[in-house]
Amino acid sequence: MSEACARQASGAADCPCTYPGCPRHGNCCQCVAHHRAKDQLPACYFTAEQEKSFDRSVAFFLSCRKG
Ligand code: SF4
Repeated sequence: MSEACARQASGAADCPCTYPGCPRHGNCCQCVAHHRAKDQLPACYFTAEQEKSFDRSVAFFLSCRKG
C-alpha cells in the first residue's frame, strides 16, 4: 500500500504514466521505490511511445538507449 503524499496531486499533473489504476500515480517516492525493488524504472524515464508498453525493466530502458 502506498503512503499518503501531500504533493501527490501536483505530482500526478506532471506524471506521464498511462498505466490505469495505480495508487502511486503522482507519488514519486513510492513510484521509484516500487519499481526499484523490481529492477525497473518509473514511466518518466521512457518516451511516451515506450511508456505505453508498460515494460519498465532496466533491460528495456537500456535497449531503448542503444543507438
Ligand atoms: S510508473 Fe509504475 S508506480 Fe509509477 S505511476 Fe506508473 S504504474 Fe504507478
